[in-house]
Order: sequence, then structure tokens, then C-alpha cells
Amino acid sequence: IVEIDNITKKFGDVQVLNGISLSVERGQVIAIIGRSGSGKSTMLRCINGLEMINSGSIKVAGHTLTANGSGLIELRKDVGMVFQSYNLFPHLTVEENVMLSPRIVKKVPTEKARETAIKVLTQVGLDHRRDAYPEQLSGGQQQRVAIARSLAMEPQVMLFDEVTSALDPELTQEVLVVMEELARAGMTMLLVTHEMEFARNMADITVFMHEGKIWEAAPSEAFFASPQTPEARQFIGAGK
Ligand code: ATP
Ligand code: MG
Repeated sequence: IVEIDNITKKFGDVQVLNGISLSVERGQVIAIIGRSGSGKSTMLRCINGLEMINSGSIKVAGHTLTANGSGLIELRKDVGMVFQSYNLFPHLTVEENVMLSPRIVKKVPTEKARETAIKVLTQVGLDHRRDAYPEQLSGGQQQRVAIARSLAMEPQVMLFDEVTSALDPELTQEVLVVMEELARAGMTMLLVTHEMEFARNMADITVFMHEGKIWEAAPSEAFFASPQTPEARQFIGAGK
């Protein structure tokens, strides 16, 4: 469902992505790990078109994005992304936050958007907090609302960039549980994470990035049991 073909990305003179290819099947969970600065976030941002690639192509659910920007609008509709910061609108309720994009972007009628909001909020265990404002929720709950907001657009693929990094351990768990359920329900997911246990247990494939390249990619169990390169061994050994 995702075909990344030899993409490159430069910021000024700095080559941040250096020829990345990756193929993801529908329903697969891909964990992306690697040192700070290895290009993990940039890769995710390229996949949903937040950053333009310099060469190569990205195909999602039949839409192809190239360096000239063609395909961007179609591709965006199919890709949801959740970040470390939740970026909820503080002056809107939980339900209004979740209904906003479907109504504005997809022109879904209000009642239909509400139905969808209730469905996705139930999925993340927060339908009972529909009328709350973001500041009345814990960080973990806000992040779950952010996930629901993304799901409301009915994406084919979900991208998660260190969504638990700002959370305390117990709040991290409740977000990971939601992601686990999403994965079980068959969602295709690419997630950048520092949670090695989660990557190992949940991801079908773990991708180790180093210096803008996919240094290793293997079934998670095999990868963690015996990383093939010194860089990956060192990274895992460092416990990060
Ligand atoms: P981290 O684990 O710290 O989040 P990362 O693997 O996600 O790291 P990226 O954020 O993708 O790394 O950054 C890769 C490189 O690209 C870094 O050297 C970073 O400084 C550079 N970079 C990222 N975004 C920009 C930008 N908008 N302009 C210039 N350089 C950038
Ligand atoms: Mg990052």
C-alpha cells in the first residue's frame, strides 16, 4: 500500500535522506528507529507531503507523489499523521476538534461528522469526554484525541512520530494500547519510536535508519535478536 522508491531530501547542502526505498503492505506495522538526526521524522514528513522530496517517488494507495509535487492532494487524503505535540485547538471541545477536518476538508455534513467522531472517540476510549476541552484532559488523553482526529479522516495509512515521547510512563502505556488496538484492527502504520519493547512486540518490520539511509530492515523479532550491523547493535545496546 506504500511504495517508497529511492527518495532523497536535502535541506540546503545537507543530504538528509539519501536514497530510501521501502515497501509496506496493507495492515503492516513498521517501526522506524535510529539516532537523533538520522532522518526519521523527515522521512515520515515526506510520506505525507509535509516536506517535498528532491527525487524519487512515493506511492500510497495508488496515488504517486513525485518531486514536482504532483499527487500531493490525493496522497494527503489517505495519510494520517500524529506528532509528539498534540496540537488540539484549545477553544474547541474534543468532539469539535475531531469533527473539524471532515467538515471543512471533506465537506461531510455535521451529523455525519458527529457520528464518525463518536465512532473514532470510542475507538480511543474517550467518547465519554466528547464535551471536554483539551486543557481538561491529561496528556495521554489529548494524544488519544489527536489520534481520533486523524482517524476521523479515514486514512489508509497512519504515521506516528514519537507520539509518546512527551508523556509519563503510565500515560505512554494508554496511548500504546490504543495504537496496538489500531494495529490489530488492520491499520497500516509507520511509527517512529523510542519504545524498543513496543517496536519489538508490535511491529512486523523494524527499520533502522542511519545517516539518511535505511541501514537495516528486518522482521522485528529477527532484527532485535541479531542486528546485522555494528551501528544497529550499538544503538540497541545503548538502550535507546
Ligand atoms: P530525532 O530522533 O531527533 O527526532 P530524526 O531522525 O527525526 O531525529 P530529522 O528530524 O529527520 O531526524 O532530521 C534529520 C536531519 O535533517 C537533521 O540533521 C536535522 O538537523 C535536519 N533537518 C530537519 N528538518 C530540517 C529543516 N526544516 N531545515 C533544515 N534542516 C533540517
Ligand atoms: Mg524526529
